[in-house]
Amino acid sequence: MLVVMKKDATETNVQAIVDAAEKRGYVARPIPGGDRVSIGILHNKGSVDAGYFLEFEDVKEVIPVTKSYKLVSREKKKENSLIKVGDAVFGDGSLPVIAGPCAIETLDQAIATAKHVKKAGAKLFRGGAFKPRTSPYSFQGLGEEGLKILAKVREETLLPVVTEIMDCENFPLVEEYADVLQIGTRNMQNYSLLKRAGKSKKPVVLKRGMSATLAEWLMAAEYIMEEGNPNVILCERGIRTFVKHSRNTLDLSVVLAAKKETHLPVIVDPSHAAGVRAHVIPLACAATAMGADALMIEVHHNPKEALSDGPQSLYPDQFKECMEKIKTIHSII
Ligand code: PEP
Ligand code: MN
Repeated sequence: MLVVMKKDATETNVQAIVDAAEKRGYVARPIPGGDRVSIGILHNKGSVDAGYFLEFEDVKEVIPVTKSYKLVSREKKKENSLIKVGDAVFGDGSLPVIAGPCAIETLDQAIATAKHVKKAGAKLFRGGAFKPRTSPYSFQGLGEEGLKILAKVREETLLPVVTEIMDCENFPLVEEYADVLQIGTRNMQNYSLLKRAGKSKKPVVLKRGMSATLAEWLMAAEYIMEEGNPNVILCERGIRTFVKHSRNTLDLSVVLAAKKETHLPVIVDPSHAAGVRAHVIPLACAATAMGADALMIEVHHNPKEALSDGPQSLYPDQFKECMEKIKTIHSII
């Protein structure tokens, strides 16, 4: 932690910080600058309460240096974490693609879509059985029946399945069927759910909260890791901004920032950022160029009839085109 003093701070007030830090068992190092003094607070185990030092006279600001996340941090583990699911590896530079409808609607819909995405090269199939919908009057998902359909898709196509887990109540049920558990944007800070996911043996795709900072997102991952599950895949899916030209704003720069901070794989879902299918392929290409570890894309065999997120779902032919384009970009970068 760095305590920055005001320009005209007196020596007595600088010394008061040093004394207070030492009294708490820290080492305090005054660093004289051009026109002000800063004091480095060292040897603290864990983060120091910034508010404590802010109350002293002549203190301008307090800058935390120690990160409060530990297990997710690259400081803890330098090399990328590799997460293997079926044929796919997340984090080794190979760009696996997760594809499928927003929601599982019928067996025919799921199988038809799964066959298309597999043929085009997807490594995992996605589809929600429990759907977190903004309106209680919208299709909420088939529940357990949807999970059973997912199991049939896996049996028939051999694709591992990714599905959202919305609450602790249905955790054991969803965990039994899913190969990868998805925690959605609306639940990124549902701490009891995060802790429960930390006790699971299944990998977790943790979507970024709609207006979460990078630090908040990483802290959410820390909750899962802290409970013993090291297999967390971070997924950027667009954040809430003031723009109206897309459903959300895909924060591509967070891919770089997150990969610098953490050893966990960072993947991108362009579909929920775009909201309209015309934007999905360009955003998928851009995410590939940014070095995303994987992509998650919504595809429906008949989007016009989709019960959820139809306007942003790619037609099978568009998904094929998308796979070809990202493959080319991926081979260049
Ligand atoms: C989804 O993947 O269908 C979904 C609801 O995603 P998000 O949590 O990103 O909105
Ligand atoms: Mn969706």
